Parts: sequence; structure tokens; C-alpha cells
Amino acid sequence: MKNLDVRQLKLKTQAVHAGETPDEKTGASSPNIVMSSTYIASPEVGFSAENEEQSNEYVYSRWKNPTLEQLENKLAILENAEASVVFGSGMAAITSLFVTFLRPGDQLIMSDITYAGASEYANEILPNMGIEIDRVNLSDLPSLSAAIKPNCKMIYVESPCNPICRLTDIAAVTQVAKAHGAKVAVDSTFASPIATQPINLGADFVIHSLTKFMGGHGDALGGAVIGSQDDMDELRRVMLVHGGGVMSPFNAWLIMRGIATLPLRMRAHQEAATAVSQYLENHPKVEQVVYPGLSSHPQHDLAKQQMRNFSGMLTFRVKDGPRATRLFAEYLEIFHYAVSLGHHRSLLFYMPTDDLLSTTFKLTERQAASYRAYAGDGMFRTSIGIEDPDDLCADLEFALSKL
Ligand code: PLP
Repeated sequence: MKNLDVRQLKLKTQAVHAGETPDEKTGASSPNIVMSSTYIASPEVGFSAENEEQSNEYVYSRWKNPTLEQLENKLAILENAEASVVFGSGMAAITSLFVTFLRPGDQLIMSDITYAGASEYANEILPNMGIEIDRVNLSDLPSLSAAIKPNCKMIYVESPCNPICRLTDIAAVTQVAKAHGAKVAVDSTFASPIATQPINLGADFVIHSLTKFMGGHGDALGGAVIGSQDDMDELRRVMLVHGGGVMSPFNAWLIMRGIATLPLRMRAHQEAATAVSQYLENHPKVEQVVYPGLSSHPQHDLAKQQMRNFSGMLTFRVKDGPRATRLFAEYLEIFHYAVSLGHHRSLLFYMPTDDLLSTTFKLTERQAASYRAYAGDGMFRTSIGIEDPDDLCADLEFALSKL
């Protein structure tokens, strides 16, 4: 934009325009996709990426690519941060954050419930790197204060958390962290910047699996870390230039195209999820529904304070989950029985509690009791898409009638 500062514009306008500029040569209004892996270099450019800082030139697409840069600028603006770095998947973003900012002897406090991939990485791989991991229920602030040690470098939050949709008070956690000199990272995949902007609440890093609500169409894997310019420069040097988990420019283009409609889609996700959660809550075969937008959610007040949009994620459970899984897989037609979430299409997947507790979370008895209060013996993690809620309820009604 020539005269307007896009940072001063509203979120819906930023989702369309931030980071994107018409092509200077052709005037093309949509962003170009630059798939080239290399660029004609000036003779001053050195062969080592360590020289890259001295030059603003494009040299090699793992170091810097114009299409990825556009997406990174858009994400930084949407999260009201200085900068961002995108990766080939959400997991690549998460592991890159840990590898760049944690050292042997550091303590990482991680939410006891996080996306399974992040949990398993923290439980299995980080201890081998000499990092001390403590899993804490971050919705319980006294537990956080009791666990934090002088060597704590990072507190890792997920809100709402995958899969149980429990929330963490991000502003309260950042206050505890700041008092101890630790940084706060928030995986905000379930919320999206339309609902919550963690940097505005004091967090240092925001993480997104761009595969989910941000891209929004279930057709492009991607991930991002968003934060200060200095931290993002370091993350790029360590984990893109040297680590190499770069995103394809084509995926960046698809994800940018998805983000343009994020505000509209989040409104539709919320509208449909509200209708479906109310329908399920009143269904005689449904034992429990967890959705931050329902007044029955144990943290509904926090949800109203921290989320401008309740998003499209909910869980529900019925008496015999494994039997229901077989019937749902057979009879649901609009919902796809599939993992992933945040797509325009509705998805659901069964999460058996004992399996998750033994393979993924490894909780204390008290933490496991908190998990069971949300999930019972197992529940359906449900990602409500942007279809008509009447059709979604009718699809569920037919499958539930077979139970
Ligand atoms: N964070 C959350 C909250 C997720 O739900 C997921 C994937 O389901 C990830 C991170 C990992 O993202 P990706 O699948 O893009 O690697």
C-alpha cells in the first residue's frame, strides 16, 4: 500500500491485503508464486548463508523466497507481531522453536495436554537433548507457580488445547513467566488470530499449524512461528537456513489465499459449531459436549474474555465410543471420519482416553482426572466446517439414530 499503514487497518482488511503487493512489472493484482529455487546473484554474494545478513538479495529459496515472505508478513501483521517464519508443517515450526531457543539444562514447562505430536516430541526427544520437561495443567495457576524453577526458559501453552478444548488464561501465565524470566509460546491453532492474539496478551511466540483454520481448505500443510524480529532472525538462521524445513511457495500461496477469507470462515465456523453443540447437548444419546461457546463449558467466562470467536472445535461423547465410531464411519455422509481440523469441511475423529494417556500424555493421577472430566473414556474431536448447520445436525441425527 502506498499511503496507508496496513497495521492500522482492521483485521478483515489485513487478512486480504497484509503482506501482498501487486507485481511491480505486470501490475498483477494477485500475488505471484515464485517457485524458483535459485536467483541470479550479484558477484558480491558469498556462498555461505552466514553472509546472507549482509545482503538483501534473494539467493536461494531455503534462505529467502518472495512468496514465503509475503505470507510471513501477513502472519506477523495478523498477530500484531514484528515478524514470522514459516515452515513446511506445524510440527516443523514447533520443533524448530524448541531446538533454537532451548539449551541443555533448561527447563521447559509444557501444558500437560497439547497436540499429540508436540507432546510426544517433548516426552521422547527433548529429554535426550538435556532439556528438563515438566508437564503442567496450565489452567491451574498454583500448579504452574509450584513447578517453575530458576532454569525455566519457556512455558508452552495451547489454548484451546487439542483435543479437549480446555483453555489457558494466557495473560495470567505470561505474568508468572515474566516474573521468572521465562518466555511464553502459545500454539493458537484452535483459536486463530480472529479469536485471540496472544502477543497482545504478553506472549513472546505464537505458533500456528497453518494446515488448519489459517489455510482452511485441507489442501496445504504448513506451520509458522511468530514473534520479535530478533527472535525470528535467529529462528530463520538456525532452522530454515541450516535446519531446512522450508515450505513450498505453492503452499504459501494457497495458505495466503485461504487467510483472505479467514474472518468470514471463522464467523461461519462459530455459527455452525454453536448450532451443532446446542443440538448435541439436547440429544438423549449424547452424554457430554465441550465447546467454549456453551455456557456449560467450565471456562466459559474465560472464553468470553479471551476469545472474540469461539472457533469451530468441539468434543462430544456417547455411551459406547468404539461402537459409535464404526457406525459414524459408516453412516455419516457430510462429516468425514478423518483426523485434522479447521477445514471448510466438517471432520470428526474418536479419541480413546486410555490410549492417549498411555501413549501420548503420560500424566499424573490428578492431571488424568482433569483430562477425564473433559473426555470421559473417549470422545469425538469434532471440527465443524462452514456447511449449513441444519445439514450437519441432520447428518449426525441419522448416525446417532443407529446407536
Ligand atoms: N498444533 C496443533 C494444535 C495441531 O492440532 C496440530 C495438528 O493437528 C499441529 C500443531 C501440527 O501441525 P501439522 O499437522 O501442520 O504439522
